[in-house]
Amino acid sequence: METNYDLVLKGGHVIDPANGIDAVLDVAVKDGRIAAVGAHLDALHAGTVVDATGLTVSPGLIDIHVHVYPHFNRPEGVPGWDASVIADAHSFRAGVTTFVDAGCAGAEHFQDFRRRFVETSKTRVLAFVNIANGGMGPREQDPYDFNVDACAHAVREHSDVVVGVKTAHYWTQLPWDDLHTPWASVDAAVAAGDKSDTPVMVDFWPRPPLRGYDSLLLEHMRAGDIHTHVFAQQFPIVGDDGKVLDHMWKARERGVLFDLGHGGGSFWFRNAVPALRDGFMVDSISTDLHMGSVNAAVLNSLWTASKCFAMGMSLHDVIRTCTVGPAKAIRRPDLGTLSVGSEADIAVLRVLPGKFSYTDCGRARFDGEGKLECALTVRAGKVVWDPTGMSMPLWENAPAPYWRVPVLQG
Ligand SMILES: [Zn+2]
Repeated sequence: METNYDLVLKGGHVIDPANGIDAVLDVAVKDGRIAAVGAHLDALHAGTVVDATGLTVSPGLIDIHVHVYPHFNRPEGVPGWDASVIADAHSFRAGVTTFVDAGCAGAEHFQDFRRRFVETSKTRVLAFVNIANGGMGPREQDPYDFNVDACAHAVREHSDVVVGVKTAHYWTQLPWDDLHTPWASVDAAVAAGDKSDTPVMVDFWPRPPLRGYDSLLLEHMRAGDIHTHVFAQQFPIVGDDGKVLDHMWKARERGVLFDLGHGGGSFWFRNAVPALRDGFMVDSISTDLHMGSVNAAVLNSLWTASKCFAMGMSLHDVIRTCTVGPAKAIRRPDLGTLSVGSEADIAVLRVLPGKFSYTDCGRARFDGEGKLECALTVRAGKVVWDPTGMSMPLWENAPAPYWRVPVLQG
């Protein structure tokens, strides 16, 4: 049997919810793919062996709500400020191997986004196409810009990297009029989703009675559509008795998915803690990473996951909702798993016990137990994050090329 693997992670606690694996095992990689998962794999001739004893080995995390189209939605008159972040600067250090951009680009700019950022990132970057032709920004307020055909066409044309349609930020304050009807954005996005056979991710601001949250969940969204920002301040999630409201359970029953979408203003412990206590977990943990959130309460994907861990979600559930959960939501069953043959995207995590404090978007604190740190990340078989040199030899034992002094040019 061929055993010259490129990389073997030895003796870690492997949690791969897609395959029902939760045990101390080895994971072997060859030619960029998972070659084997099992006990005591032969690593004698492996290119690199990493001792993962005491660490958790997970499929690479998937964050389905981020903004990674820099230089696009720069606000007028704010020099040096970009709303989006550079994908590779924030993914691997948090154990993330797949980022999904949530509608920065509409049909009009998608090719530019694709060429300059999707195809140049080491992180796997996928995307939702904004229902507004002009993408995220002022044109999300203009129903004339909600072009169902153009959006569905862009989704199909770029189906290798596009996972669905995004609606967001539409008409939250000003009075309704003949053009600005309550459901213009959501309904157009759903029509584009129908036309392209993809899910819609919904960012929403309830304005009852004409635009109620329960109507969104029970009448306008379809099975498989994703409500992001579920623990934001504006949503009725839990009643005065601390119990999760009926429309949440009914929506889940009809197949609506709930995404965390933390963001700069969309995660509040007053909704998240009672919801979790009542057994209502999100289907996917995501950050809504952008320049307004990355240095605020979000920090990164793993910090947001740690928050869920500290609020009482089990490690297995946290990993499930960061891997196979989001993979299902974006209908990419090939991702978020360590199945043999799949692309080798792996996160090696350190679970730190003890007391840790976290914050939310209302500037309130939560004191909890435990924190997750990323020890090592593998993307398509390559080690892309290894700050403590787990995949490297001690300098005294480094092989010959290390000791070579460059010939200096006079
Ligand atoms: Zn967002």
